[in-house]
Amino acid sequence: MKSPPIIDLHEDLSYYYVSGASGLSFGLDELGKDLPGRHGDIPKFRKANVKIVVSSVFCLLPTISPRIKEKLSGGYGFKLRAWTPKAAPLTSLEHVKVYYQLVKSYPNDLMLVLTRRDVEEAVKGDRIGLLLSMEGAHMLEDPYDLELYYNLGIRSIQLTWNFDTRYAASCFSAKDYGLTGEGEELIREANRLGVIVDLVHASKQTHLDAADASKLPIINSHGNARKIHNTPRNLDDEMYEAIKRTGGVAGFMCALMGGERDVEACADNIMYVYENFGPDLIAIGTDYFGLVDTEPPRGLEDITKIGNLFNLLLDKGMKEEDIEKLAYKNALRVILEHAEKWRNHTLEND
Ligand SMILES: [Zn+2]
Repeated sequence: MKSPPIIDLHEDLSYYYVSGASGLSFGLDELGKDLPGRHGDIPKFRKANVKIVVSSVFCLLPTISPRIKEKLSGGYGFKLRAWTPKAAPLTSLEHVKVYYQLVKSYPNDLMLVLTRRDVEEAVKGDRIGLLLSMEGAHMLEDPYDLELYYNLGIRSIQLTWNFDTRYAASCFSAKDYGLTGEGEELIREANRLGVIVDLVHASKQTHLDAADASKLPIINSHGNARKIHNTPRNLDDEMYEAIKRTGGVAGFMCALMGGERDVEACADNIMYVYENFGPDLIAIGTDYFGLVDTEPPRGLEDITKIGNLFNLLLDKGMKEEDIEKLAYKNALRVILEHAEKWRNHTLEND
């Protein structure tokens, strides 16, 4: 089939630059260059027909704490370095600055997605849209700080990374307390601003509570099915059901898929969700540039290989129109619902 447009719900583009490509299997280089072995860059995005990259603002720093390392590596099955939410607001700003700089460096290739018109332009036009997403809420000292980050360009927020926050329990929580009172307030604030609530890395109870609390669709941007690979970082059927109930989407990712680490295993994960929850829930969230200390799956080494996945899904019985939903239509539906609210909230009453 002809390559459909792509909306990738999760890439750690700024991590690559802020960390100096630490833990990645390719070196640091200009994003305008087609660098062999790199998960993505402007030429590869164009080749793959990528329209929007939801670009993460990662607020954690590396640490060698053995206790954190043990806790994190348990869920991933590979040796993950340890991270700590040290100086999260300042660390976040450093990531936001990278995106500003990328857009300034490539004005004909990249644009920030800040308004509904930007969404439409990115999908139809010539420039690839970067939609900024906060990875974890450690940078928010209270729920109302979200407006500050909204004003910096943030349009999506994860309530947790792999650590608990004051807002919600994470997938590795020793005590799954779900959404806190402040977490409910944060969701109210996100709904008001039109910031997408992303439950990836959050616990099961957090998913269920957030589905009840949110008036807009919730998402899980990059995770796979526990039925295929059982780790708390993945989703069980009730979590998929909760997201579906809100009209949200779940993006499959290029790790945590069980079996052989290849494109076939990715396709199996997506087919499981497709067959059990229908065509409107599935989306793509590769986690490219965030596959730290690990390799991407064979057959999905970089974003230009995404056609391999679509062909496999066709073979496995997915309808062509549903592959378009997976590739971009479902994600676009959720983004547009939020984009209705994207305006200057500081100066206007709402
Ligand atoms: Zn992540």
